[in-house]
Amino acid sequence: MNYQCPFCGGEFSADNGVESVMCPHCNEEVQLVPTEEPLVPEEVPQQPQRPVGVFEVGPSGKSRGVAGLLAIFLGMCGAHYFYLGKTKPAVINIVASLLCLLMPVVKIADLIIGIRMLMATQEEFEERYVYNDSIYPF
Ligand SMILES: [Zn+2]
Repeated sequence: MNYQCPFCGGEFSADNGVESVMCPHCNEEVQLVPTEEPLVPEEVPQQPQRPVGVFEVGPSGKSRGVAGLLAIFLGMCGAHYFYLGKTKPAVINIVASLLCLLMPVVKIADLIIGIRMLMATQEEFEERYVYNDSIYPF
């Protein structure tokens, strides 16, 4: 590495890591300032994509766990549709519940939907139930 003597201006070379050296031109002791290492920006570790937990809220703002449990336990009130912001299917579901004695299969449908919500991935849940206007999406 080459240095310039601050006393006589003469150039000389010195090994890396040497702190001071006698100038070969004027015999003055020259303090060698180590060149600073360029700042390397700290690497930000990439967060690995991890699946959204059952009761965690996904990109749609809805949790499939909550929707599924509402469907299973409060499906008769259309609770899972209200949770998903789907008023029309919710109302239809309530009417269907009033006819429940005539159509028990409708209530089984809520149960199945709830279980399927719980078993789906967040992506499947959002595609199939949140962004789908059908009343009984399977
Ligand atoms: Zn010198």
